[in-house]
Amino acid sequence: MLEVFRKAVLILAGSLVAGLCSASELSDESAAHRGVTLAGTQDMQHIEPAALINPWNAPEEEYVKPSIQQRLKPGQRVAVPDFGEPGKWYLQRLTDRTYWMICNAFASTVFVGDQGVLVIDASSTVVPADMLAAINRFTHLPVRALVYSHMHTDHNGGAIRLQRALKGQGIDLRVIASESAAREITAHQDNILPPTEIIPDGRSTFMFENFEFVLGTPIVAAHSAADSYVLTPDGVVMYVDFNYPARVPLGYVSSSYNMTGWIDFMRHVLGEEWQYANLGHANIGYKRDIEQTFAYMEDLYDAFMTDIAPGWATGSAISDAVAQHGTGLTAGVFWGNYVDQSAEIMAKKVYPKWKHVAQSG
Ligand SMILES: [Zn+2]
Repeated sequence: MLEVFRKAVLILAGSLVAGLCSASELSDESAAHRGVTLAGTQDMQHIEPAALINPWNAPEEEYVKPSIQQRLKPGQRVAVPDFGEPGKWYLQRLTDRTYWMICNAFASTVFVGDQGVLVIDASSTVVPADMLAAINRFTHLPVRALVYSHMHTDHNGGAIRLQRALKGQGIDLRVIASESAAREITAHQDNILPPTEIIPDGRSTFMFENFEFVLGTPIVAAHSAADSYVLTPDGVVMYVDFNYPARVPLGYVSSSYNMTGWIDFMRHVLGEEWQYANLGHANIGYKRDIEQTFAYMEDLYDAFMTDIAPGWATGSAISDAVAQHGTGLTAGVFWGNYVDQSAEIMAKKVYPKWKHVAQSG
């Protein structure tokens, strides 16, 4: 108890000292003025809506009307808007047993077994009655299992409601997740149903009826601290909040926890045998999308090494920025703007090569 109290005082003291520092910086009017010049205004810390340079649906891609009968031909995308009609489920059959479905911009994967149905991800916007009615359009078998791609509440906050709805039908939902996801749910007290079955990290498998699924959790930290890819036995993989179909990823790296892990995770996904990917948002993904993302990231890394790293290594990048703009209102504003400025330099450098790909300005 004493130890907890001592730590609390230390944290409080730390924040007070930090407060004193920033107060003294603010009391220097010229420093504050220079900070405003660097930051523009505090509004500069927000991302303004940007017009699309190219449409999300690239003209050279083939988009087909969604269908629950017709399997998607490899390479095709589905003609479904990123932000469709609120509450409406858009469905697409991918293989014999696996379907892609999306509602309110959040996607789930559905695998139809012989006695029941397995679902991957139930977003926080899921209304169970609506989701089950949508699944009922292609199978009357009951949902018996739910798998988590990762533990973020936006992708799996609907699990509690889904479990409750199925309980009303006399079904005990299996909830399958990696040991990392289980750990993170407990550690952060996430409002997500804890898994009933915990699968070891690394490349593991689990059974649903007589079907073997892969649950790969290969990286300690990537988009989150518990990212899994789920691979169905008929070649559909689901991994969420990584790359996007036929689009540049810079604005869409989804607040990645660890960029190196983010790239490594996709290398593992690329190494598996699959034909279709459910990316959690947007549209159906293919291996070529990961390869395109890697090519784009490679150019960004090159731009960093040629245009940012040399000045960083000598410290001249910092002194140039301070000479031009001052130190900023606080160190945080300075660093925030410095990182934004570096990102802008890199993005502009690679833009001529990548301007044909869907992106906003
Ligand atoms: Zn996420």
